[in-house]
Amino acid sequence: MSSTEYDVKGNSCSFAVYNSDNVRVTQFYVSQERAEAAKDRMNKKHSSQLRNCMCCGKEFLSEGIHNRLCNGGTGCGATAADKTMLMGHSPWDAM
Ligand SMILES: [Zn+2]
Repeated sequence: MSSTEYDVKGNSCSFAVYNSDNVRVTQFYVSQERAEAAKDRMNKKHSSQLRNCMCCGKEFLSEGIHNRLCNGGTGCGATAADKTMLMGHSPWDAM
């Protein structure tokens, strides 16, 4: 379970992180180490994904399975009407 979406590529003096579409996703780094560190961050970020907020149903970038509210769980701006609209639609199905 360690498939890598991002990869470090570079030549002797510059390194950058590329995604699986071969698109550069970071700045150029002068050391491979820093590029690898950036790649690790990217791969970690990749475990997060767009989910629908349990509260208001808006799509947001979730940090993980525990993160289900659009404002990091600190309170979401959904109104009662928004919640009513969510009835019959479970964000859990989006997994
Ligand atoms: Zn919300």
